Formats: sequence, C-alpha cells, structure tokens
Amino acid sequence: MTEVVIQEVGPRDGLQNEPVRLSLEEKLELIRRLTSAGVKRMEAGSFVHPQAVPAMADSDEVFARLPDVEGVTYSALVLNAKGYQRARAAGAKEIHFSFGVTSSFNRQNQRAEPEESFATFLSLLPRAKEEGVRVTLTLSVAWGCPFEGWVDPDRVLSFVEQAGKAGFPEIVLADTIGVAVPSAVRRLIEEARKVAPQAVIGGHFHNTRNTGIANAYAALEGGAKVLDASVGGLGGCPFAPGATGNIATEDLVYMVEGMGIPTGIQLDALIEVARWLRDVLGHPLESSLLRAGPFRPRGALA
Ligand code: ZN
Repeated sequence: MTEVVIQEVGPRDGLQNEPVRLSLEEKLELIRRLTSAGVKRMEAGSFVHPQAVPAMADSDEVFARLPDVEGVTYSALVLNAKGYQRARAAGAKEIHFSFGVTSSFNRQNQRAEPEESFATFLSLLPRAKEEGVRVTLTLSVAWGCPFEGWVDPDRVLSFVEQAGKAGFPEIVLADTIGVAVPSAVRRLIEEARKVAPQAVIGGHFHNTRNTGIANAYAALEGGAKVLDASVGGLGGCPFAPGATGNIATEDLVYMVEGMGIPTGIQLDALIEVARWLRDVLGHPLESSLLRAGPFRPRGALA
C-alpha cells in the first residue's frame, strides 16, 4: 500500500441524493473550495435524465463553468449514449460509465439489462478513444443488491474481465447500498485485479451500515488504487432505498495519510469545506473528522 488516488464524488453522488438543492453558484463554490483543499480528481456531475435525478439537471452549466486548475481532472457520470453526447457537448474530458450488475437494479435504474448497458458502453469506446476522452467503468451493487440480495462475485468478475480486455483503464467496484463487509471487499478487489491485470481497480463505499471506512481499508489491502469519497460524508443513491452517505473524504484522508500514504489533500482545509457545506445545507453531516477534528496532541500546542 504505497499509493492511492482519492476521488471526490460529493458534487455528484453526494448532491444527487441530498434533500437540500444547491444552486449552481453554490455547487461551483463547493467545487472551487474542494480544488483549493488539494482535491485532484472529482466527479463534478452526471448526465442522466433530469426527471430521474433533478439535482443533476444543471450539470451542463456546471461543466461549462468548472474552475480551470492545473492538475485537476473533472469527470462526468454517464449511463447511456445520450448522456455521453450531452457530457461531451458540455465539455467533459473524462467520462465514467456505470451500470448495476444485477438485472433488477439496472432495470430500475437504467431500464436495461446489465448486459445491454455494458454493450452500449463498449460500443462508445472507439468514439471516446478517437475524441481523446478517458473513460472508466463503475460497477454498481457489486456486493449486494436491494432487490436480489448478495451478488455472486463471479457475475461481477465476468464484467470486470470483459471490461479489462476491452481496454477500460480503470474499473471501480461500488457498494452502492452499503452492505459489504471488509473480508468480501478484499477478496473481490483481489480477484478483480487478477482477471483484469491491465486495469486499475478502485472501490466506492457507502457507510450505510458503518462498514464504509473498514471496507476502504480492505480495498487498499486488496490492491485498490482509487477510492471514491464525498466531502462531509454526503451521498446516497436515489435508486437504492435506505442508502446513506459515501465515506467522508476527510475521514479517508485522515486514515490514508496516517498510514504514510500521501494524498495531496490538506486535511484542515478539507474539514473547512465540510463545515462550510454543512452550514449551506443547514443540517448535520456524517463525517467523523468534522465532529472530532484532526488529532492534535496537547503537548504539540505548547
Ligand atoms: Zn454511490
């Protein structure tokens, strides 16, 4: 465990299920503050049907006005060909395709079988390559599905293997509804690395049942090189009943930096962003670091 990229997904996964709607200006301010704190990779919005996810309806405008900061990459979540079109028209240079690996979840979410969504993404790969767009793949409900229960790892690994062979440089396994436990996370990440050795494997965890940060650690042990998190622990999924926040970015930064792995993110500044966001939203956030602050032994203050 020597390196990991922390990918901020608060402006996308976080806000899409947040009951308080941020204005365009507030979203842009959030994104500016996150980049100032040292965040280098961020999902800044998604191009899905505005009626399905109203909080993301202004993603076009967000992408048109993203702050141009050296070394910062913004990505857009896309679920179909139309979304790809819109994301590209808005200027997105990195696109994250995503589908649910179970039939029930994906039909509810995308009105398509998992295989159909995957086939659409595969068909868009040549075009993305031609346009110089980096595309990644996120597999939702990779451990458990709200409709079908525990997910067969072989089902997930079959998609991972195909995605690796098709040339996806990064494949993220998402515990969309926050049911996974660390042993299963480590195992699946390890297996994914074996079946798709060309790709970087990442993890996306929700803290619904308080296993989120433990799962992030297990993913690192399994060899994950990308971890998603949301500032303040914002997040959820409108299609996943009962899902709560992503793991908090500041909690993840605290753990990872404490393990001696640099993240490039300034913890104090990030906690300030979470505090600002909490005030804008007007309700508490899940983040532990927001509550407890960083560890400052008293002696060090003398
Ligand atoms: Zn999520």
